[in-house]
Amino acid sequence: MTYTPPLDDMRFTLEYVVGLSRLTPHPDFGVLDGETVSAILEPAAQLASEILAPLNWTGDQQAATLSDGAVTTASGWKQAYTAYREGGWNAVPFSPAHGGQGLPWLVAFAVQEMWQGANMSFGLCPLLNQGAIEAIEAHGSTEQKEAYLPHLISGQWTGTMNLTEPQAGSDLAAIRTKAVRETDGTYRISGQKIYITYGEHDLSDNIIHLVLARTPNAPEGVKGISLFIVPKILSDGTRNDVICTGIEHKLGIHASPTCTMQFGDRGGAVGYLIGQENEGLKYMFTMMNNARLSVGLQGVAIAEAALQKSAVYARDRVQGFSLSDKTKRVPIAEHADVKRMLRHMKSLVCAGRALTYEAALHLDLARAGDTEAQMKVDFLTPIVKAWCTDNAVEVASMGVQIHGGMGFIEETGAAQFYRDARILPIYEGTNGIQAMDLVFRKIARDQGATALSFLTDSEKFSALAPTAHKLKVATQWIAHKAVNDPEAAAFASVPYLKAMGILAGGYMLSRMAHAAKGQMTSEDNGFFSDYITLSDYYRAYILPTARAYLEPMV
Ligand SMILES: Cc1cc2nc3c(=O)[nH]c(=O)nc-3n(C[C@H](O)[C@H](O)[C@H](O)COP(=O)(O)OP(=O)(O)OC[C@H]3O[C@@H](n4cnc5c(N)ncnc54)[C@H](O)[C@@H]3O)c2cc1C
Repeated sequence: MTYTPPLDDMRFTLEYVVGLSRLTPHPDFGVLDGETVSAILEPAAQLASEILAPLNWTGDQQAATLSDGAVTTASGWKQAYTAYREGGWNAVPFSPAHGGQGLPWLVAFAVQEMWQGANMSFGLCPLLNQGAIEAIEAHGSTEQKEAYLPHLISGQWTGTMNLTEPQAGSDLAAIRTKAVRETDGTYRISGQKIYITYGEHDLSDNIIHLVLARTPNAPEGVKGISLFIVPKILSDGTRNDVICTGIEHKLGIHASPTCTMQFGDRGGAVGYLIGQENEGLKYMFTMMNNARLSVGLQGVAIAEAALQKSAVYARDRVQGFSLSDKTKRVPIAEHADVKRMLRHMKSLVCAGRALTYEAALHLDLARAGDTEAQMKVDFLTPIVKAWCTDNAVEVASMGVQIHGGMGFIEETGAAQFYRDARILPIYEGTNGIQAMDLVFRKIARDQGATALSFLTDSEKFSALAPTAHKLKVATQWIAHKAVNDPEAAAFASVPYLKAMGILAGGYMLSRMAHAAKGQMTSEDNGFFSDYITLSDYYRAYILPTARAYLEPMV
């Protein structure tokens, strides 16, 4: 499978649309200009295109396998992971205090887009590790940070998130895994977790599980959940009481092992409490929020890969005649409807990229102490996660359509993108749960003030103003309903999020077209003018659909 990292699009988005320069006034970041960022992106692109992308198809075919509790990844996976780790790629966004490179998330997202675009099953391993690192960085004790972070940040060890249980998916209040405190202050963990991504594998020397569990007599529901570090291998080199008892056969991401994890069959797995008892869910949200942005990024990345494949196929596949010249057979790329599909795909990819990077920029600003930026990234997180992942499924499906019958045949790889993309609206909180988060947390907590200010920003582009106006009315409606008629607010939450995503995408694409006009010279080879075409297409064909979603609310 081939994948060409879209470096020009990434650089343009970073430098001229989202704006690397908006980071530099903060003392946490040195001067990051386009040249420095290119020096980071180019070797990452090489690893993504030359090592990770060729394994995407073989990984899908071979899948990860389980035997006697040990998971073997597909061929080539170990060497690829070693190349990734030795290149220092795992350390990019983390604190230099524990071996990280301390680069902003904005740059890290551009780098990570390439792992996810080249091979999403592979990219999931570092994505989960990142969540574990962030939880320990934010809430771990000094000893825990020293014991785990250097290994996790270097990628020598990997981390997991162990939330889900058979009866506790979206509803984490139903978690039953037990944690009993021992006299030495450690805990013994017992219970079963399901669907644990890279819960077991052969890529790293150790696996550090972050596990949600309940202590005896803990309060009912989410107020009684604590977070534990449960290493696969303990510090004395012995094997902890945790084992993988099964891996799932699934629709896609075959090479990413989705594990059933059994804790405590031999008396209890040794676990170390993070922070305070009963505060676990709050800590887990630290990592989940950022992971949600990363899943949105996965959506952008796999959509880009599906677009690339479709564009190549459409140029090669000759079928039928041009409407204006009935004597010449043409490649399908010249048919209006195929052109439309490619334009639709590309406009969603570019808008999603810019929106995700914009959220990453605000994450960086928030971490540097900007509270308004924190409100903005909190608001954007469910939108990025849900809108970009729904788009990934739509774009990958269009990719299958462009391939015609060949799209339905596995060998082309178009079907793999569609199968792989389908998980994105489900994990890390389903898109329905994202919409509830948007309405009941992000909108309700400031009566929609952050949303309204974002909409006002978008009105700078007059073509967006009618949609932004409708969304303002809908925001007031849903903020009111969230308090006075939660059932009505919940019922409307997904359409509301979709409309907000469409407007946000239109806003980012308008900014792209505006920046492109500023960069265009008479020698433009189509790169900049393409952004103007995409923005025009989006305004004509995608933006109006937002208003339809809002109809029952306004
Ligand atoms: C491949 C894969 C990898 C995964 N990796 C991990 C991992 O590494 N770690 C981990 O802990 N988990 C992981 N998961 C679990 C994943 O996060 C859950 O599957 C997901 O959160 C949904 O939970 P569920 O499957 O129990 O669905 P359910 O919660 O049963 O949801 C079913 C449907 O009901 C809707 N629904 C449920 N509750 C509500 C509500 N209150 N309001 C509105 N709608 C609602 C949902 O939106 C969904 O449409 C993974 C799952 C898969 C398939």
